[in-house]
Amino acid sequence: MSQLTKGEELANRLKLKRKSVYECVSEQEKDRIFQYADSYRAFLDEGKTEREAVREGIRLAEQHGYKPYRFGEPLKAGDKLYYNNRDKNLFVFKIGSRPIETQGIKIMAAHVDAPRIDIKQNPLYEDSGMCFFKTHYYGGIKKYQWTAIPLALHGTVVLKDGTAVDIKVGEDPGDPVFYINDLLPHLGAEQAQKTLGTAIPGESLNLLVGGMPYPDEKAEEKIKLNVLALLHERYGITEADFMSAELSAVPAFNARDIGFDRALLGAYGHDDRVCAYPVLTALLESEDSENTVLSILADKEETGSDGNTGMNSILIKDLLDQICEGLGANPYLVRAASKCLSADVCAAYDPNFADVYEKRNSAFLSQGTCVVKYTGSRGKSSTNDASAEMVGYVRRFLDEGGVHWQTAELGKVDQGGGGTVAKYIAQYNIDTIDIGVPVISMHAPYEVISKADLYATHQAVLCFIKA
Ligand code: MN
Ligand code: MN
Repeated sequence: MSQLTKGEELANRLKLKRKSVYECVSEQEKDRIFQYADSYRAFLDEGKTEREAVREGIRLAEQHGYKPYRFGEPLKAGDKLYYNNRDKNLFVFKIGSRPIETQGIKIMAAHVDAPRIDIKQNPLYEDSGMCFFKTHYYGGIKKYQWTAIPLALHGTVVLKDGTAVDIKVGEDPGDPVFYINDLLPHLGAEQAQKTLGTAIPGESLNLLVGGMPYPDEKAEEKIKLNVLALLHERYGITEADFMSAELSAVPAFNARDIGFDRALLGAYGHDDRVCAYPVLTALLESEDSENTVLSILADKEETGSDGNTGMNSILIKDLLDQICEGLGANPYLVRAASKCLSADVCAAYDPNFADVYEKRNSAFLSQGTCVVKYTGSRGKSSTNDASAEMVGYVRRFLDEGGVHWQTAELGKVDQGGGGTVAKYIAQYNIDTIDIGVPVISMHAPYEVISKADLYATHQAVLCFIKA
């Protein structure tokens, strides 16, 4: 062994090091990373909408002995419960043995809605040999990315009598899929002159759903009639039922390994199921019985967290109050002592678009879970901005637990911005910080993450639960 120079020794001690997790782990750990990604892939394919993710979350929670919670129920240490908010937002919690007035509640929140193409309330029309659904996109999308790809239709239709009918078409290999037309390049000269934001107007995102006329000489709008006849035959719905429906077009492709080495995973809706899955599974797997822990799968983050299934609903406070009441604790003390990980994705540095990132403060693929002190735009507008003390707290349990982690902000200061659910939890006097998995091509129909970062996020949540 050659002796280190004083400078080398000093650099080792003082300088921050960045390294790929894959360079730091044993073969055994790499296997665990890959296995965890396999289970996550199954969760992704089962839950492409918030309703499906919540359903899957309940299934997993029940598998681990969790039972439905009703407001007003008495609570005791060891209770494992879940609260299903309207099938779109899930709270899973475990009561610990330590007093929550001094220890607080460990809260983890991630969202399970993702950008998509929603179907309008009066959607069906026929034009020029084709039948379409009118759509209204949901969340921040680059519209051109959603044309000319196979789309599946997911959702729920509430019939006149109140019965809810679930629809899922385009996921089984034998299913048909749906499609949003784009212009052929041969006639695209004018379109090509437009900006990315204007080349595909929102009102041209019409979903192709049929092309076969109903066999009746006298009938009008025969293709539309034929589609309605098929829908009625299969689901018992009429055109009026669309008014009380929530239908969405989502990418019809499943999660797949990316690259020769399979280090990365491609899927629709990593944002934010890639954090929701660790937030849920770490709680279910955790053997800690001391802390009271609450995992939240939220809805409506992509449209601003408003509405009664979003994180800005007072339900979070109601539920915390109820937990306090059930345990005979003062809710003000409990909230002041509680801590929250707002688990959401961040932007991974992409060398193909290097201009918009500030490299020293960017998240890199495979360098671990990413702690984000603040989000917001311009002068940190609308940010939670966790305190240095909160970052210090997180840093200690991550380092003590041997978790691979990094820190970053979104991109260059004046380049844009974004937010998470952090501020909606912090508003209740709860120390909150953002943490999550770096993503390439965020909000695209197919996003990319590193399996190593997914696993590191799972480890981070486990450490938080027992910290
Ligand atoms: Mn998100
Ligand atoms: Mn998002």
